[in-house]
Amino acid sequence: MPLVKSWVASANAPGCDFPLNNLALGVFSVGDGEPRCGVAIGDMILDAAAAEEAGLIGLPGGPCLDVPFWNELMEAGPVAWADFRTQVTALLAEGADRAAAPFLVPMAGAALHLPFLVSEYTDFYAGRNHAATVSRIMRGADSLPPNWLHIPIGYNGRASSVVVSGTPVVRPLGQTLPQGAEAPVFGPSRRFDYELELGAIVGTPSQGMVSVAEAEAMIFGYVLLNDWSARDIQGWEYQPLGPFQAKATATTISPWIVMAAALEPFRAEGQPREFPPLPYLRAPRPGFYDIALSVALAPDGGAETVIARTSARELTWSAAQQLCHHTTSGCPMNAGDLLGSGTISGTTPDSRGCLLEATMGGREPLALPGGATRTFLEDGDTVILRGHAQGDGYRIGFGDCAGQVMPAPAVPAWARGDAA
Ligand code: MN
Repeated sequence: MPLVKSWVASANAPGCDFPLNNLALGVFSVGDGEPRCGVAIGDMILDAAAAEEAGLIGLPGGPCLDVPFWNELMEAGPVAWADFRTQVTALLAEGADRAAAPFLVPMAGAALHLPFLVSEYTDFYAGRNHAATVSRIMRGADSLPPNWLHIPIGYNGRASSVVVSGTPVVRPLGQTLPQGAEAPVFGPSRRFDYELELGAIVGTPSQGMVSVAEAEAMIFGYVLLNDWSARDIQGWEYQPLGPFQAKATATTISPWIVMAAALEPFRAEGQPREFPPLPYLRAPRPGFYDIALSVALAPDGGAETVIARTSARELTWSAAQQLCHHTTSGCPMNAGDLLGSGTISGTTPDSRGCLLEATMGGREPLALPGGATRTFLEDGDTVILRGHAQGDGYRIGFGDCAGQVMPAPAVPAWARGDAA
């Protein structure tokens, strides 16, 4: 599919993340104004709420953009999703009358907010290279857990701490067992890390088990996702029930929802498997996307350096397979359910999606320009995830998924046990 040209000239530039083919969905505000639904187009935002109010956008089920989140469009269902895209494309396409011009706002002057109400958050572990490298770090061999090739491994995370790009992330306090120590201690995490992931957003609710094909149709769109992880807290707490406080501090998502329809031309095979999964998890068609991903790190006040590049094709379980598996228990899924893919890593040292892997558990520090090194994140570090699918003369981008690490709070005297 070629570039669909827009009368918003900046949307037609080859390096622009938001051409008319994308129509990414966000929630923005200007000055002291209320947050509202907007659609990214070039370096502008279409005030979709105002366009709907003015009658330029009209969905059969009635208004659904008069709220500062996109869940109501999700709940209107896949026919409405397609209808919405058709209508906005018609408004902004080259040659259209410019009736939408009064509703364009410069992106540069807008604040971006969480684009949807996150109803629940589940994080998976679908990156095979990540799982294998972590296994090598922890156990000295590239042996995947025995269930890994059979089941999309996941855990129930926290929707309450999902934040939008730009939100500071405070280093967590927690209980850890320092290396060689006999008893645990309580204090700031010393092995705080990021995880490069793709987040899938469920748009259609379900009751009971759904197939992989049905699950795919339920997915509204995707965001970039940073699953901040305290490795020292995780290492002590995770057996036998999996991660808990290590992953509960924050999960940062990119500010724009890229609808599944925009990624359709980039559908791709994931990683090869030795054997097919059980019949219920077999996918009727490839469920992955050819999305180039990168991680950049900027020390406090310093320039950013790209420290990893990889691809969303480095996954073995698709979001649809994960969602199908999620429903096998009868677990209801809701509009606004967020599913993290799991850390995405390639096979080479410069393609690893977290510092745990990039530094082999902290044993091989990562060199930054100017002589600085990192084993894990330091206070003041900003981590920026980026991603785009490259089309013929255009690209589908997500916008930056960034967060800066702030110092941990002081441990209160009562928590130290030395209160007078
Ligand atoms: Mn994760």
